[in-house]
Amino acid sequence: MNMSEPPMTQLRGVLREDEPMSRHVSWRAGGRARVFYQPADVLDLAAFLRSRDPREPVLFLGLGSNLLVRDGGFPGAVVFTHHALIGIEVESEVSAPRGQISFRAGSGVPSPHLARFVAKHGGAGAEWLAGVPGTIGGALAMNAGCYGGETWNHVVAVETVDRAGTLRHRAPADYEIGYRHVALKGGADEWFVSAVFGFQPGDESAAMGTIKSLLQKRVATQPLNQPNAGSVFRNPPGDHAARLIESCGLKGFTVGGAQVSTKHANFIVNLDGASAKDIETVVRHVHDTVLQRTGIDLVLEVRIVGDAA
Ligand SMILES: Cc1cc2nc3c(=O)[nH]c(=O)nc-3n(C[C@H](O)[C@H](O)[C@H](O)COP(=O)(O)OP(=O)(O)OC[C@H]3O[C@@H](n4cnc5c(N)ncnc54)[C@H](O)[C@@H]3O)c2cc1C
Repeated sequence: MNMSEPPMTQLRGVLREDEPMSRHVSWRAGGRARVFYQPADVLDLAAFLRSRDPREPVLFLGLGSNLLVRDGGFPGAVVFTHHALIGIEVESEVSAPRGQISFRAGSGVPSPHLARFVAKHGGAGAEWLAGVPGTIGGALAMNAGCYGGETWNHVVAVETVDRAGTLRHRAPADYEIGYRHVALKGGADEWFVSAVFGFQPGDESAAMGTIKSLLQKRVATQPLNQPNAGSVFRNPPGDHAARLIESCGLKGFTVGGAQVSTKHANFIVNLDGASAKDIETVVRHVHDTVLQRTGIDLVLEVRIVGDAA
C-alpha cells in the first residue's frame, strides 16, 4: 500500500562527507563513505532520498555489526538509522495474530533494546534478540536469528521507504524470506523504516532470566572483547560453519591485523589495526580452504561492500 509522498522540505539531519566507516562498523576497519547522512526522522529521511541523484548508490547502515566497507570506501550515500529512527511502543493500531501483543519499533532501535522492552511489557519470545548487537533494520534485512528465534517469525507488518522517498506499509507476504535471506518480491529498492512485531504474553522475570543466561552463553563462546562481525559464514544445511573451519585447522590463521578467532572459528577478529583487505583476505582463504578440503562451498553471512583501495 502506498502511504504518502512527503513534500520536499529542507533537510534537518546531519550530513557529513568522507566519513570513516571504521567508526560505524563493529569490525572497526574499512574505508570512508563519500556521503553520510543521519536523518532527523522518517520524513527527513524521505526528503533526503528524494533530494539525491537516483543513480547514486545508497547503503543503509544500522550498527554495522554485519558489514565491511572495503578500504577504497563506499562511493555513494550511507544512511545511518541508529539514533534516528528510534521510536518504540506497544502498538495499538496494527493487531498481531490472536492472543499476541503487538510492538512497533523504528529501524534504528537496537535489537537488544526491543528484547528488554518486550519482556518489560509482558511479552515473551524476543529474549534471543538481546544478544544480536545490531538494529531492527539490520535484523529485518538479515532475518537475524539465534537460539531458535528468527526475526521474520514475529513480523506482522513493516514500513518501508524507496529512492523517491515514498513510504509504504508492507506485509510479510510481500517478501521472500529464508535463512539469513530477505528479498522484496519484484526486487525494488526499498529500506525498512519500522516494523510491527507480535509476541506471546509472558512473564517479565522469566524473560529477563532467559536474557541473562543467553548473554552468559555468548560471553563463554564468542570473542566479544575483540572487534568482530559475528558469524562470517552461514551454516550450511545440517552442519556448522565453525565446525568445518576448525576441522581445517584454520583457528588462529592471521593476515595483517585480522585473525580467525581462536575462541569461535566462524568469527574473524580485528587484533589491531586490521584493514578491510586483511579481513577479506582471511575470509577468502577460509572459504577456499574449506572448499578444497571438504567440498563445501560456504556462503557469506556478512555483507562486504564498496571499492578496493
Ligand atoms: C558479536 C556479534 C554477535 C552476533 N550474533 C548474531 C546472531 O546470533 N544472529 C544473527 O543473525 N546475527 C548476529 N550477528 C550479526 C548482526 O548483529 C546481525 O546481522 C544484525 O541484525 C545486523 O544489524 P545492524 O544494524 O548492525 O546491520 P548493519 O551491519 O548495519 O547492516 C547489515 C545489512 O543490513 C542492511 N540494513 C541495515 N539497516 C537497514 C534498513 N533499515 N533497511 C534495509 N536494510 C538495512 C545493510 O545495508 C546491510 O546490508 C552478530 C554480530 C556480532 C558482532
